[in-house]
Amino acid sequence: MTKNLTNWARNITFQAADVERPSSLDELRGLVARSAKVRVLGSGHSFNEIADSTGTLLSLEGLPPAVEIDTAAATVRVAAGVRYAELGRRLHDKGYAVHNLASLPHISVAGSVATATHGSGDGNGNLATAVTAIEMVTADGDVVVLRREEDGDRFRGAVVGLGALGAVVALTLDIVPAFEVRQRVYEGLPAEALDDHFDDIMSRAYSVSLFTDWRTPRINQVWVKERVDGDTGSASPGPLFGALPADGPRHPVPGMSAVHCTEQLGVPGPWFERLPHFRPDFTPSSGEELQAEYLLPRRHAAEALRALRVIGDRIAAVLQISEIRTIAADELWLSPSHRQETVGLHFTWIKDAAAVLPVLGMIEERLAPFGARPHWGKLFTMAPGDLRARYERMDDFCALARHYDPSGTFTNDFVARYVFGGR
Ligand SMILES: Cc1cc2nc3c(=O)[nH]c(=O)nc-3n(C[C@H](O)[C@H](O)[C@H](O)COP(=O)(O)OP(=O)(O)OC[C@H]3O[C@@H](n4cnc5c(N)ncnc54)[C@H](O)[C@@H]3O)c2cc1C
Repeated sequence: MTKNLTNWARNITFQAADVERPSSLDELRGLVARSAKVRVLGSGHSFNEIADSTGTLLSLEGLPPAVEIDTAAATVRVAAGVRYAELGRRLHDKGYAVHNLASLPHISVAGSVATATHGSGDGNGNLATAVTAIEMVTADGDVVVLRREEDGDRFRGAVVGLGALGAVVALTLDIVPAFEVRQRVYEGLPAEALDDHFDDIMSRAYSVSLFTDWRTPRINQVWVKERVDGDTGSASPGPLFGALPADGPRHPVPGMSAVHCTEQLGVPGPWFERLPHFRPDFTPSSGEELQAEYLLPRRHAAEALRALRVIGDRIAAVLQISEIRTIAADELWLSPSHRQETVGLHFTWIKDAAAVLPVLGMIEERLAPFGARPHWGKLFTMAPGDLRARYERMDDFCALARHYDPSGTFTNDFVARYVFGGR
């Protein structure tokens, strides 16, 4: 029995009295079937109460950590508790990759998919878009399998499931041949260059991230992650729309050592050691930060950034760093990129919720005209009705959740408020 269990950032203390760690599927099925309220905890990296439960919290890290590659189908079946760092290593050993990764590789696959976690890249959907099948234990202890090719709309509703449909025990993901990436950081991108050339800059490579501290209109850093695809040359790079190549490795937060960052300066390396910003062999057990992120149609990117520059000093006062990324549109009902080419405006804050939350309110007000959707796993202050209205399939998702979980066993306070809207 665990008491005072917290999330990674330690800003949320879970209400659950217990964390159960089943070691077999049958044990898990029994536990779920006997529970009035239950929720699966992934690696606990979300910043809000999405993973909380007043009943039982389940960790699936004790289930066998299956990573089964099907070369003919070009898929991998992954046990829910496996983290991307481990998946990356095991796929790469066999010559395969997933299409993209988030900034940190220590997050669980199932927890990341449940909240539509994403990396960057114009052509890259969020990590949930790689899912081809979901295996989950529903409230009565049954195992339900949903497949992309066979279950169509119902599958697209269930993938970004917020943990509300059941305990996901395994996911099958699309894989691609392993690839090499080289990463370069450029410094000091003028704001006008971003306003005038947003699409040119973001399409410059497979994955591009911009970092800004909002202290000046300039973008502090541009992280460019290029696929090598056979070309191992490392021509010395010129300026990028006025930004200059960094002369050494950089951390996104000004003044912090780059020792935990993935290798830069154009040195080619495996996809899983370059696509995240942070190294897989550095595992911070807890964090001194809070995060928020808003996702909106990318055609509004320049206008949204101008709207936020007006309150740049308020943002800067409580900020560590902001990241701007692009995500391809998808068809997953509760994905913030549902049917829209997306720009993500991310904020890593100082760990002071009382100081940060009022600033979130200001940001949300300024981004409201663009229909910004908050990241499901990060902090936000938006009213439930406003959030619900930003998802055209929200009512369908509620019906799907009720179908698989009629008595609300997997519904927690967060889902009751933001998904069911108190119904
Ligand atoms: C340092 C840091 C960096 C981050 N970087 C990024 C980033 O680059 N991009 C991005 O988009 N996000 C990022 N995030 C946010 C993070 O990816 C999400 O919060 C993600 O959900 C974390 O996965 P987790 O396994 O920790 O999930 P948890 O926080 O443990 O759970 C999240 C949700 O998933 C559900 N869930 C977990 N496992 C299961 C399961 N097996 N079955 C059913 N439901 C399940 C939980 O019930 C909960 O609803 C970052 C977070 C941190 C702390």
